[in-house]
Amino acid sequence: MFKKFLTDVCVAVSLGLAAMTASSPALASEQPFKVTLLGTGSPIPNPDRFSQSILVEAGKQKLLVDLGRGVTVRLGQLGIPLRDINASFVTHMHSDHLTGLPDFWLTGWLPTSFGSRETPMKLYGPKGTRELAEYLPKAFAEDIRIRTVDEELRALGIAIDAHEFKAPGVVYEQDGVKVVAFETDHGPEIKPSFGYTISFNGRKVVIPSDSRYDERIVAEARNADLLIHEVAMIDADLMKTNPRLQNVLNHHTSPEDAGRIFSQAKPRLAAYSHFVVFHRGEGVTASADREIDRLTRTTYKGPLVLGHDLMAFDIGDSITVTGADGKTIMSVGSKP
Ligand SMILES: [Zn+2]
Ligand SMILES: [Zn+2]
Repeated sequence: MFKKFLTDVCVAVSLGLAAMTASSPALASEQPFKVTLLGTGSPIPNPDRFSQSILVEAGKQKLLVDLGRGVTVRLGQLGIPLRDINASFVTHMHSDHLTGLPDFWLTGWLPTSFGSRETPMKLYGPKGTRELAEYLPKAFAEDIRIRTVDEELRALGIAIDAHEFKAPGVVYEQDGVKVVAFETDHGPEIKPSFGYTISFNGRKVVIPSDSRYDERIVAEARNADLLIHEVAMIDADLMKTNPRLQNVLNHHTSPEDAGRIFSQAKPRLAAYSHFVVFHRGEGVTASADREIDRLTRTTYKGPLVLGHDLMAFDIGDSITVTGADGKTIMSVGSKP
C-alpha cells in the first residue's frame, strides 16, 4: 500500500512556477511547526485515504483538527502516544470528521505505551460538541464501568472537557499557539460549520475543512503559510446514474473554484486534503489526482501539493513537504 502511496504522491505533486527547489534546507526555527495529514479522504471507505483528520504540532502543543476514520491508527504509525494530544478541534458534525473520536478517546485511556491519558480529553467545537461529550460516556458506559473496576483506570482520564463555541474568534491559546475559528459555507443545512486558523511563531496554517467556494476563506487565508483546502470531483456520467451525488457536489469545492481561492489568497503553499472524488468509478487514483491538478491549474499557477495520508509539512523559513516514507517531496522557499 505504501508503495502505491509513493507512486501517487510522485504523480500528485505539482510544482509551482517560482520559489521552489528540489532540495531540503534545514529549518531555521528551533520551535517546530509541523502539520501532518492523518486522513485525507471523505466517507468513501478507502484504506489509502482515511477520513479527515489533521495533526498540528506547534512548539509544546499537539492539536488535532477533526477526528475522522483511522486517526488513532495514523497517530500509532507516527509513534505519537494518544495522551500527548493537548486538544482536539471539531469543524462540524458530519460523521467523516468524527467517527475516529470514540476510538481516540477510549483507546487513549488504556494503560499502555500509546494510551495512559490521565487528564480529561479537551474537545473544542461548535453546536453539537457538548452533546457528543455528554452522550459518548453513556454509549460506552459498560466499557467504562468494566475497565474502571477490572483495570482500575481512573475516571479523570476518560472525562471529556468540552468547549462549545457559538461565534467565530479565538477559541484556544496556549504556549504561544493560537487557534481561531471562522465560519465556512458547507450548505444551508450544515450550520454551523467552522474552519480553523492556527498561528504560531509568526506563521499561520489555515484549515477551512468542508466548504463550498467561500470568499471568507480567501480573507482568512490571505498570506497564510499553508492553506489546506478540500476538493470535490465527481464524474458527470456517474451523477446521471446517481443524481444524489449532485447534492454532495453542491456542498463542496471544485478544483477550479479551489484554484480561484488559492489565486486570491496567495498562500506560500496550497494543499489539498479531504478528497471527495468519484472518478471513473474508481475512487481516488493517480489519474484522478492528475485531473484535479489539471483543473486547478486552469485558475491557479502557484505552489500546490495534493495531499496523501501521512504527508507532513514543516513550516519555517522554508516549507518542506515529506511523504509517508519521510522522504522530502519538495520545499517551498521564503516569500520574496
Ligand atoms: Zn461535511
Ligand atoms: Zn467531510
